[in-house]
Amino acid sequence: REKILQVEQLTKHFDMGRGKMLKAVNEVSFDVHKGETFGLVGESGCGKSTIGRTILGLYQKTSGNVIFDGMNVHELSEKERFAFVRRMQMIFQDPYASLNPRSTVKEIISEPMEIHGLYKDSKERLERVYELLEEVGLNRDHVNRYPHEFSGGQRQRIGIARALALDPEFIIADEPISALDVSVQAQVVNLLKRLQKEKDLTFLFIAHDLAMVRQFCDRIGVMYLGHLVELTDSDSLYEDPLHPYTKALLSAIPIPDPDVEEKRERIILKGELPSPINPPSGCVFRTRCPMAMEICSKVKPAWQEAKQNHYVACHLYNKELTEADKKEAAPV
Ligand code: SF4
Ligand code: MG
Repeated sequence: REKILQVEQLTKHFDMGRGKMLKAVNEVSFDVHKGETFGLVGESGCGKSTIGRTILGLYQKTSGNVIFDGMNVHELSEKERFAFVRRMQMIFQDPYASLNPRSTVKEIISEPMEIHGLYKDSKERLERVYELLEEVGLNRDHVNRYPHEFSGGQRQRIGIARALALDPEFIIADEPISALDVSVQAQVVNLLKRLQKEKDLTFLFIAHDLAMVRQFCDRIGVMYLGHLVELTDSDSLYEDPLHPYTKALLSAIPIPDPDVEEKRERIILKGELPSPINPPSGCVFRTRCPMAMEICSKVKPAWQEAKQNHYVACHLYNKELTEADKKEAAPV
């Protein structure tokens, strides 16, 4: 399938002052294909939101490239950037924080259309607001209400309607269901799936765990401490996870069947998540990895295709590592 987005060796560091650098995103590469849902998964603080914002150009990159439909998004003129924003929109985690509490639903949804000069008059725009409300499962009678009058799930629907107002082709959804009740999460995911089909959308879907994303995502990248550690299609990731971190994340998802749940081995990660200001040498996961070897503290594992279309950064899959290397290896 056609690549609509290419993220190449993207690095984003934040200068924290006094010589400290927060290494939020480090040499991350992946492609997103037109029409797919690409999931980016990892604990909070792993850099996934920073990647989303850097792709959108809300943050300048430190190095690397973000190419959208052949354009380098960090080298656009003001005019080109304006056109780009119409094509790529974002849905946020907390719809309450991202919607202006003093604006009505009508104002919230029509604002992007006004800024971009879509539709000739306010009557046409209002018609479009009605249409969008219906598309996201809200009622047109809601137009004059304020965000606080809605439930969390409804507010997220308003956020989705606003993101759709410019008729984008690519949506970055930054944990759009994490703040919602479990009972509402599936409804919002189903809405996004339906909209994707109807509007031919491409999604970058950011999530903090692997529950809920399997059915929605075509391919998934797993992140840990600012690094991409594994990438493959959803089924391969769930059925045959390679990276020790992915295995631990999967083992934390409860299984509804109590018999299976009881017998299952749960991988508990030791220690705390290290600071991205002072990440471990070698493999960033080594301080918590149950499989860590001596080489893991010395050499950063290369990104490699361990199986067809299944990429991982871990020395366990390094074919060039000799048996001697592995024998020598002792737990850290
Ligand atoms: Fe664990 Fe070493 Fe693989 Fe890192 S490279 S995930 S520490 S085995
Ligand atoms: Mg985040």
